[in-house]
Amino acid sequence: MSECIKTDVVIVGAGPAGLFAVFELGLLDIKCHLVDILQKAGGQCSELYPEKPIYDIPGYPIVTGQGLVDHLLRQIEPFHPTFHLGEMVDALEVLGTPEAPLFRVAFGSGQSFECKVIIVAAGGGSFQPKKPPIEGIEAYEGNSVFYAVRKMEDFRDKNVVIVGGGDSALDWTLNLQPIAKRLTLIHRRDDFRAAPHSVKAMRQLVAEEKIDLHIGQVSFLAGERGELSSLSLKGGDGAVREIACERLIPFFGLTMKLGPIAQWGLNLNENLIPVDTERFETNVPGIFAIGDINHYPGKLKLILCGFHEGALAAQKIHRYVYPDKKLTFQYTTSSSNLQKKLGVN
Ligand SMILES: Cc1cc2nc3c(=O)[nH]c(=O)nc-3n(C[C@H](O)[C@H](O)[C@H](O)COP(=O)(O)OP(=O)(O)OC[C@H]3O[C@@H](n4cnc5c(N)ncnc54)[C@H](O)[C@@H]3O)c2cc1C
Repeated sequence: MSECIKTDVVIVGAGPAGLFAVFELGLLDIKCHLVDILQKAGGQCSELYPEKPIYDIPGYPIVTGQGLVDHLLRQIEPFHPTFHLGEMVDALEVLGTPEAPLFRVAFGSGQSFECKVIIVAAGGGSFQPKKPPIEGIEAYEGNSVFYAVRKMEDFRDKNVVIVGGGDSALDWTLNLQPIAKRLTLIHRRDDFRAAPHSVKAMRQLVAEEKIDLHIGQVSFLAGERGELSSLSLKGGDGAVREIACERLIPFFGLTMKLGPIAQWGLNLNENLIPVDTERFETNVPGIFAIGDINHYPGKLKLILCGFHEGALAAQKIHRYVYPDKKLTFQYTTSSSNLQKKLGVN
């Protein structure tokens, strides 16, 4: 087994909240290791909507999901955080006291950490797409069947079929229609859960014969060597029709798995971790929760809220990491000390 790594803070989740926490902690000389079950940093922004624009990040009138993550990664470079990607946190051992917390955390790979503080920034947990019950679909996954749109170019000039009736299905119908050879939307009933303006825009495209809409269920996939060529659709009337399909995107929702964190005694409430709104600390002193995973009265699952929570949590974390040091509030614009840490002075 590898040697136990000693560090100040282990952050579980390298989404936007976890990434920005590294910056706030770095300014206070607090060192971090980040762990994420995914193979890359960025959380939902990179995994679910890398090319979509976000309009409500302060200071950025428009930035894509991946663009924001790239900026966050650049912003934390001066603090050299260590990333452990493709790893899930596992067992937790409480070694310290409420006044002087100390934890041992093990990863699924067997690597263990000793740290004074843990920040859970696990979003909605590790997300896995719900797969449609279509026989043999696995053979096409990654080549022709995708559960998220990572690169729009993969769909250019292809016969694209989207299955689903929620926001993701309708958003991507509208976004991919201009570049697809032909786009077909399939839903099991003629009633959509997506935002009304998206449904209206989709129906307009159908009326203009720019996309096809079918009500029914996919019953069979045809293709060779992982490349789809067509699918069979069983309509409500039982009739089966064949539809040309080179790219299939089923949007059946996501299941979120918190994994072993659920056993850490954090008073979970419907898979969310209750925290106070002064420090964003959980019921276990030394364990904090920020971003989409936490809950408090008035909570909004917005990226900017995760940033705020990380900044406030860092203040209390400083007391755990440096119990004898006084913390003086400083601005990055005017503090030469902070600028030195950022490598700009
Ligand atoms: C389509 C879409 C559009 C959106 N648009 C906006 C918008 O315009 N503006 C806005 O503010 N917000 C938007 N959001 C919401 C925003 O993406 C989330 O609020 C934000 O990503 C939450 O950040 P986070 O860091 O808390 O969690 P996440 O981004 O969910 O990241 C959590 C990370 O933790 C990892 N993880 C979870 N459990 C474990 C574990 N046990 N071990 C290891 N790793 C783990 C996950 O793999 C993930 O990478 C949107 C969301 C979606 C889906």
